[in-house]
Amino acid sequence: MKRHWILPSSCATLRSFIVVLLFLSIPAAGFAQTPQASPVASPLAGSGIVQEPFGEVADGPVEKYTLSNDNGLSVSILTYGAIIQSLKVPDRNGYAADVVLGFDTIQEYVDKSPYFGAVVGRYANRIAKGTFELDGETYTLAINNDPNSLHGGTQGFDKHLWTAEEIQDTGGPSLKLTRVSPDGEEGYPGTLTVSVTYTLTASNELRIEYEATTDKLTVLNLSNHSYFNLAGEGSGNIFDQTLQLNASHFTPVDDTLIPTGEIAPVAGTPFDFRVAKPIGQEIRDGSSEQILIAHGFDHNFVLDRPAPDDTSMIVAAVATDPASGRVLTVSTDQPGVQFYSGNFLDGSFAGKSGNVYRQGDAFCLETQHFPDSPNQPDFPSTELAPGDTFSSTTVFAFSTR
Ligand code: BGC
Repeated sequence: MKRHWILPSSCATLRSFIVVLLFLSIPAAGFAQTPQASPVASPLAGSGIVQEPFGEVADGPVEKYTLSNDNGLSVSILTYGAIIQSLKVPDRNGYAADVVLGFDTIQEYVDKSPYFGAVVGRYANRIAKGTFELDGETYTLAINNDPNSLHGGTQGFDKHLWTAEEIQDTGGPSLKLTRVSPDGEEGYPGTLTVSVTYTLTASNELRIEYEATTDKLTVLNLSNHSYFNLAGEGSGNIFDQTLQLNASHFTPVDDTLIPTGEIAPVAGTPFDFRVAKPIGQEIRDGSSEQILIAHGFDHNFVLDRPAPDDTSMIVAAVATDPASGRVLTVSTDQPGVQFYSGNFLDGSFAGKSGNVYRQGDAFCLETQHFPDSPNQPDFPSTELAPGDTFSSTTVFAFSTR
């Protein structure tokens, strides 16, 4: 196990100060920390990165990198799938819980993961019937979600090893994962060089920065597929957790979960999350055809932006667990967010806690371009041309209430 502490030696005085604060049980640095508060990171650990082996897949060994900050937050990232394997966040009293679903072994990720914590690509979400046209050519993808292609196909970015590199001077412990996706991989054109950089800041933000270049015109849609439960993974369903979405419109789907092309107002429907409400409030609304099709929420919300081509960072979503006080604020430069209420978790396996994951035990907020954009001329374009660099940022920020 390698440890790389980021605190400079000049911070020794600051550490002693924090020790005194902890001893006096005075809340420090954003979250209250008490000696019994966190089974997660030692309160004296400081900010840094720890590297450990996490088993092996057919292509080679998998590493786990744990990034921690001074406030008791830590995130573990795997080189397989660029997966967020664990995300430990203190509650309003300083008690940390792991707020993402996942597994303790690599084999479980390989055998049965429904994209837990992974970077999904080349194309996050669905492409209708696994085909699209680009520059006069028709491309054919694997149908891995009959009759469509989902999250990059049979072996998407979530099922590959990425190369890890620790990055300095980014405002917190930072890990860059890179891979080269060969021309024709999963049917997509162009050699794509793609990276994702995770940074844990001192202000309790997990920043996710994507970059990609191609040598041939292609399509690209990248997202992180973390399943959140702000009360802690394995603790039950998320129906009492509240959600606010900065979206007056969403993209309704057909019965194969492909957008119909309509940009529909949320007003007067269960999809109206403009004012925070419990996720479970209308999840069983049988009068909504869209709820029935998706078995709950599994829809792309169109973020409210000042102009359709605006790419500034805006708040997309705020989720809160009233019981623990944990708040997750998601910001992005992307046009949409897929709100998925864990409808297809079927109780057939258990996760890290040893508890079975059942329908509604987590929610995903996948910042993204709209599903099936390559076949929908009216949706914002997902094309990437040679010479251009795709870059995109999403921030998961944690606080308490
Ligand atoms: C999709 C769901 C799918 C889930 C896991 C989400 O992004 O919208 O339909 O079941 O990923 O694959």
